[in-house]
Amino acid sequence: MENETPFDGDVKKNDELADLMDKHETIERNLTWEVRKLEKDKVLLENENLRLDREVKSLKSEINRFRTPPLVLATISEILDNNKVVVKSSTGPSFLLRYSEKDAHKIEIGARVALNQQTFSIVDVITSEKDPLVSGMEIEEKPDISYENIGGLEEQILETVETVELPLKNPEIFKEVGITPPKGVLFYGPPGTGKTLLAKAVAHETNATFIKIVASEFVKKYIGEGSRLVRGVFELAKEKAPAIIFIDEIDAIAAKRLQGSTSGDREVQRTLMQLLAEMDGFEARGDIGIIAATNRPDILDPALIRPGRFDRVIEVPVPDEEGKYEILKIHTKNMTLDVDVNLKQIAAEAKDASGADLKAICTEAGMFAIRENNYKVSSQNFEDALDKVLNKNKGHSTTDSGVMFG
Ligand code: ATP
Repeated sequence: MENETPFDGDVKKNDELADLMDKHETIERNLTWEVRKLEKDKVLLENENLRLDREVKSLKSEINRFRTPPLVLATISEILDNNKVVVKSSTGPSFLLRYSEKDAHKIEIGARVALNQQTFSIVDVITSEKDPLVSGMEIEEKPDISYENIGGLEEQILETVETVELPLKNPEIFKEVGITPPKGVLFYGPPGTGKTLLAKAVAHETNATFIKIVASEFVKKYIGEGSRLVRGVFELAKEKAPAIIFIDEIDAIAAKRLQGSTSGDREVQRTLMQLLAEMDGFEARGDIGIIAATNRPDILDPALIRPGRFDRVIEVPVPDEEGKYEILKIHTKNMTLDVDVNLKQIAAEAKDASGADLKAICTEAGMFAIRENNYKVSSQNFEDALDKVLNKNKGHSTTDSGVMFG
């Protein structure tokens, strides 16, 4: 150590410095090389991205192309394993097809699918919102009719309040008393006596959506179509709850079973079964009321009025004289009447008139007054109207609104 000169120390430091500089250069070289490699990769990836973008675009336009030509409609009649279904096309033949996983949640028996014309592959599953079923129905959010608009049906109103309105408004009462509220109510009586009016008034009082369907709408050409419609109506009611489902002319699907039935009869039978199944599977939860109406209670299948189905049957008869007077009062409320008009006498004269006929009599009387250039309706106008409406009635049928044909 003693022999070491200060010069030796400098040499050592210089060596270390050179070493460090060497290392630094190597690191810098490596880094530059790494950066270049990454840059090259970036360009490659960008190119790949562009290529994939182009491919997605072309596949999208391919899908659009598949969707654009007119599609064949078909109904699913059977669901098999491995994403396969049997469909019956609207043009006749049935097909065994595969559906894609993305449609799996929409696949159900009775659902409608759109098929490509050439390949018959399933292009789309048509969900209920797009279903034309709604077009055959009358849907009214909280109709504008209250019990005051109904004349001469006090008893029927009371019964309807108990059986439909109370379970909708106050389901707890039934729970506390320990009884199940009636599931469905059947109105029967001649045409134009106020059955629809009663159902609408319940919907009004309970703030419910009124869904009316005429049962003959359920009788369709294709097998399974009727039951699909029934399911659709109940689904819609659940969506819109609280709701009143009003099925008019229920006899169209609920006539007694006959021996030796045709395939058409069997289809009608299936539709009724679907309706009963929907009602059976329905908890009397109270947020949906079901009312049916018929002019022909005598031909109804007894299965319909079993407990848990339409277990309350309410007659809506032709009004008596007092009832007729009440109805006349309602329909003349906004009319200007001559002092000589005696509604009680008109009620007595309108022997077999239904509510709809009485409404028609009021309208006709108004029309006679207009023809005479009068704004007041006279008792003679009512006499003429009575004659016109009731005599026409003898030979012809009345429609709902009381307007005559023929
Ligand atoms: P249908 O069996 O033909 O379906 P319906 O019994 O359902 O007949 P509604 O549609 O309720 O009869 O009545 C038809 C029209 O007649 C009503 O819009 C109403 O103007 C009048 N009307 C019928 N009954 C009464 C009534 N009791 N009070 C007041 N208006 C009535």
